[in-house]
Amino acid sequence: MDSLLATPKLPDKVRVQCSRCRVPFREKIRNMREGFQTQCPHCNRLITFSSDSGDLDVQRAMTEARRIRNGSVATAVYGVPEPQ
Ligand SMILES: [Zn+2]
Repeated sequence: MDSLLATPKLPDKVRVQCSRCRVPFREKIRNMREGFQTQCPHCNRLITFSSDSGDLDVQRAMTEARRIRNGSVATAVYGVPEPQ
C-alpha cells in the first residue's frame, strides 16, 4: 500500500517527442531552458529548446516543463486522471 503513503511529488522530467522520428523520450526539466540543446537518443537529431521554436513538439514540451515548474501540474495529477 505504498501508493497511499506517497507524498505529492512533481515529475522532474517531461516527455519530448522528436519531430523527425516521432519517438518520444524524456528530458530533465531543469535542463530545459531557452537555448538548451539535446540530441534525440533514437535518431540523433539535434533538438533546440526554445519557446519560439517552430517545432510544435518542442513548444509543447517547454510548456509542460513550465507548468510543472509553476506547480500547476499538481491539479492535473490529482484531479481527473488522464487516460492512457
Ligand atoms: Zn528522433
